[in-house]
Amino acid sequence: MSGALAADLLAWFAQTGRDLPWRRSGRPRDPYPAWVAEAMLQQTRVETVLPYYARWLRAFPDAGTLAAAPLDAVLAQWQGLGYYRRARNLHAGAQAVAAAGWPHTLAGWRALPGVGPYMAAALASLCDGLDAAAVDGNALRVLARLSGEEGAIDLPAVRVRLTGLANALLPPGRAGEWNEAVMDLGAAVCLPRRPRCGDCPVRRHCAAAASGRAADLPARRPRRPQPVEDVAMAVALAPDGRICLQRRPDDALLGGLWVFPDPARLGLPPAAGWPLLAFTHVFTHRRWRIDGRLHRMDGPLPEAGDLRWLHPGAVDALALAAPTRRLLDAAQRTLQIG
Ligand code: SF4
Repeated sequence: MSGALAADLLAWFAQTGRDLPWRRSGRPRDPYPAWVAEAMLQQTRVETVLPYYARWLRAFPDAGTLAAAPLDAVLAQWQGLGYYRRARNLHAGAQAVAAAGWPHTLAGWRALPGVGPYMAAALASLCDGLDAAAVDGNALRVLARLSGEEGAIDLPAVRVRLTGLANALLPPGRAGEWNEAVMDLGAAVCLPRRPRCGDCPVRRHCAAAASGRAADLPARRPRRPQPVEDVAMAVALAPDGRICLQRRPDDALLGGLWVFPDPARLGLPPAAGWPLLAFTHVFTHRRWRIDGRLHRMDGPLPEAGDLRWLHPGAVDALALAAPTRRLLDAAQRTLQIG
């Protein structure tokens, strides 16, 4: 079955594979665009990534340029994509590549910061032609349906089983195409909620379609609720119209990005100020319930290394965290500043 399945999938991919900018370098793929694209595509949809990818390649056309750029410029370029750790990892990875060259083994790819098993397999198959199956959430869903796997795909034992299946199905010597084909099948046909089995090139091999269980698979464990933290942010306005931003420590959540500081950081009482905007910001593993308040400052302005007072029109040069942008927009609408 595996040979026939691979033949059907690859024939479909040859006809309908998506024309994406990072796929234009021929095979094997050029490592720099492939690596940047894989980093951007973690947790982010292709349609969202496309304009960021184009801008990034214009700003940092190769690993050497990226390695030499200041981190603040790298984070500013990433602004809006979220999960900034990916940008920091690309920056550090580019410095490793500039020093030692591109990896050519799975272990070599894994040694780059932020490159886990999925990315390493994707990049080693695409850029080095290694026979490695890239198994992310998309691929797990497709594989669980093809094999009729009933176990929850967030269980490690089930993932190991499906990764073994993926490697067994892989057509030797064509892993790069196979991985891209599985990606496209999951994105266009084997959709999470409504799989389009009627249009599927591998339907005749699919256990879930045969049993009418396609929409019920994959199984998952019930989700645990995310912890919620209350976070106060002060939009502090100086008499000359400047506002205060604080750079988060590199190793913290939103590390290296600029946020409105906690009122206590500016010597302000927590419940003081005018309520500007209250909202929830959702991270992968937690939520911040943010209370943003406006404070008109009088007297001497607190100054410290991680604080910066600047006019609202000048903040775009900094890498702003998403909640900062939201509060800034609310302040500009309310105060007509900018
Ligand atoms: S037949 Fe349906 S469930 Fe099976 S792989 Fe194709 S789209 Fe997915």
